[in-house]
Amino acid sequence: MNLYDETKFIMKQNNIVANKNLGQNFLIDEDIVNNIVSAAELTQEDLVIEIGPGLGNLTKKLLEKAGKVICIELDLKMVKLLSNRFKLYKNFEIINDDVLKVDLKKIIDESKTDKIKNAKIVANLPYYITTPIIMKLLEDKLDIQSIIVMIQKEVAERLAERPGGKESGSITYAIWYYTEPEIILEVPNSSFIPEPKVQSAVIKFNILSEPRIKLYNETMFFKVIKAAFMQKRKTLVNALTNAGIFKNREEAINCLGKLGIDEKIRGEKLTLEQYNEITKMII
Ligand code: SAM
Repeated sequence: MNLYDETKFIMKQNNIVANKNLGQNFLIDEDIVNNIVSAAELTQEDLVIEIGPGLGNLTKKLLEKAGKVICIELDLKMVKLLSNRFKLYKNFEIINDDVLKVDLKKIIDESKTDKIKNAKIVANLPYYITTPIIMKLLEDKLDIQSIIVMIQKEVAERLAERPGGKESGSITYAIWYYTEPEIILEVPNSSFIPEPKVQSAVIKFNILSEPRIKLYNETMFFKVIKAAFMQKRKTLVNALTNAGIFKNREEAINCLGKLGIDEKIRGEKLTLEQYNEITKMII
């Protein structure tokens, strides 16, 4: 049976109708599943955290390659179905919860043993919460090697951008600080049922062993970047002044001047290093 027929069969047998509110679009393209799994370069020493396993089409392949797979799924119907589908797999575990509320650090730390040495995140994400999930994965400073996720193509292109690119946003800086991002493949809408309205792509974030630069003050660094992008159309001077980072425009212009940064510059043109230097001047 091919993956499309198998998926239709499982849905019928379990009375499943895809829940749009939960971003349920099930992968039915075997080649895409294989490509995602091979991009993860799994071994028996790996723990995979899969976010939103759905009917388990990706999970099945992950279970064949990884030492352990822990799935986090919000939909209880899917949890029951998967608990039954994979009951014979000793390396399968499932948690019925919202991924945004789960303590991933604890799950990963508790799973590391003599046999399970690395952790990786692999997922076909629910598109309605892509950005908060990726931010959580980065900000939680998880002890993981990589994050491989299927997301909306447009978002993937934005997230793979370097600081200074046309589409840069505050998340670009967080990604570039912690990871090396690369788009692995583009995925046609026909690879899912139901077909999503938007195009998709798989992006891999290779987690750097050390963040890209040494920060003077991490909290303030990300506060400045967030402020710079709150009013993206304004110049950096205006955005940082309006956000209260500087008392007034003069102070902002003075700070940028000392760093040799043009006072008319917009936030997306700065490098990580330049934001770090601004942070140094205000802490
Ligand atoms: N992995 C499956 C596949 O590739 O066929 C399904 C992917 S589907 C795009 C997204 C999955 O995420 C759904 O199963 C949905 O129920 C689940 N989901 C949605 N919101 C979630 C949340 N906050 N926490 C955990 N899982 C969630």
